[in-house]
Order: sequence, then C-alpha cells, then structure tokens
Amino acid sequence: MADDFSPLLAQIAEAAICLTDSGDVADYIPALARVAPQQFGIAVATVDGAVFRAGQADQAFSIQSISKLFALTLALQREGDALWQRVGREPSGTPFNSLVLLERERGIPRNPFVNAGALVITDVLCRRYLQPERAVLEFVHRLLGRTTVAIDTEVARSERLHSDRNAAIAHFMRSFGNLQGEVAAVLDAYCAQCAIAMSCAELAQAALFLAADGRQPSGVRVLDPLDARRVNALMLTCGAYDAAGDFAFRIGLPTKTGVGGGILAIVPGRMSICAWSPRLDATGNSIAAAAAIEQFAAATGVSVFGGL
Ligand code: GLN
Repeated sequence: MADDFSPLLAQIAEAAICLTDSGDVADYIPALARVAPQQFGIAVATVDGAVFRAGQADQAFSIQSISKLFALTLALQREGDALWQRVGREPSGTPFNSLVLLERERGIPRNPFVNAGALVITDVLCRRYLQPERAVLEFVHRLLGRTTVAIDTEVARSERLHSDRNAAIAHFMRSFGNLQGEVAAVLDAYCAQCAIAMSCAELAQAALFLAADGRQPSGVRVLDPLDARRVNALMLTCGAYDAAGDFAFRIGLPTKTGVGGGILAIVPGRMSICAWSPRLDATGNSIAAAAAIEQFAAATGVSVFGGL
C-alpha cells in the first residue's frame, strides 16, 4: 500500500505554526505586505496521483518566483537548447534581484531563477506570445487539467508600480543586447506572471512532471526526461538564490522559492511537496516553509543525495 503522509503533515503543520512569528513578509511589493503573516500550509502530491494536505493547503497565495519554473519550462518547450545562449546555469551567490554580476558577464544572467534570468525568459516569451503572462497561466491550467488558477491583478499592479530594480536590470541587459523587446512590456508580463495565485496543493500537482521524468500523471509529456532532470538540477543549485547551498545541505532536494512565502520541492521519481508561510528570512525564503520541508525530508529520508 502507498504511504499515507497525512499524519506526518499534520504534525509538521502543528510545529510550523510556532515558527510563523519570526521573519518579515515581503514589503517591497506593497500588496504582499498586507498578507496576514501567521499562515501555514503544506501539500504532497505523489506520482501515483495521491494528494495529502495539512494546514491551509488549499489557500491561494502569490507564487512570485515559483512562476519562474513554469515560464522556464514553457520557454524550454518552445526554444530548446537555444535558450542557453542567453542565460547561464550557475548559482549566483547573490540576492535574487542583484545587478552586480551582469556587468562582468556582459548582460548574460547567471541562471534562469534570479530576476535577471527570469526577465530574459519573459523576453523570450514576449517574442512568442502576444500576452506572455496568459501563456504562462494557460500552461499552468494545462498542467493542472483545470482553469481555476488566476492572476491577482492587484498584486501585479502593486509590483509593477514598484519595479525600479527590475527595470534597471532589464535596461542594463538591453544595453548588452540580451533583451530584445521593450522593457515596459517585459516588466508588465513579468509582474503579472509573478502575481499568479495558487495553493500548495495546486503547486505540488502542477509541478509533478518534474518528479516523473517530464510527464504529468495524466500522461501528457511536458519536457523530455533530460530537460526535466536539468530543471531539477537548476532548482537544486539556484532555486533558493544565495541560500541554495544551505537548502541542499538542510533539505537535499531541488527547490524553488518565492517571496510570497511558497517553497516547492521535488523528490525525483516519487513526489512533489509545497509548503507556504509568508514570513521570510534575509535571503527572501520562507522560514516556516523551509523548516517544514526540512522536517518532511528528515522524517521520510527522501534526498537526492542518497537514502538514510
Ligand atoms: N516578483 C518578485 C521580484 O521580482 C519575485 C522575487 C522572488 O519571489 N524571489 O522581485
């Protein structure tokens, strides 16, 4: 019989709620500063179709940088390996919104998960689609097999009004020829894509293809097995920005985090896990969600570095 993770998740949710006091919600996006901080949810989706939940696992939140995973996957589907001429595959060791390496590296972002890399991916999608944010949203709908997910236009507008840093990154890359569209259009699409609202259960289900060699449980192929493995490698090395090393050490799984407080983790061959709690540490990663996934990995022994 398949494992029942419900009791473990309930225990983790109970412990996690005590951690929702430390850290700060992202306030550089004013609409996110208004989110109630003491919230927590966790969900696990297995490759054989089971979904386990605890806490506010069905509460939608702003997925923010977790959307970079869906945008990257869509861009890979459309561009294939040509994408890697415009974006690197190395961890940055810098905050997600840093500019410093771009001058030395002549406008080529270190990886697709720092903001610079995600803006290049959005630029790629802008050339392919009239409304790139709708393309990312519809891609999420196809992954889920339902159209219940939406963009929170209030959050999108709020971030767009405060996007000077991302505008600077985009203009700087454009000066090197690595951004082809208009900066304003790229920022509109990027902010809207980051403002997609989803729950832990939805995120875990949407990302299952990364745990199943590139195929959703419905049988639909999303990526070929090699690209699915490569995306997992990028998540492990770059998904948590300058905390990626610490996450690999503590959790041992590919992860992608967002400043909305969500963290998605992949257990290749087995399952995806998503935890959410709004308060963040100094690297922009959710404190309670990281602790919860760390506890889940420790209790079940899952790790890409070998069994316990
Ligand atoms: N939309 C956010 C930004 O560009 C995403 C950052 C994040 O989630 N790490 O700043």
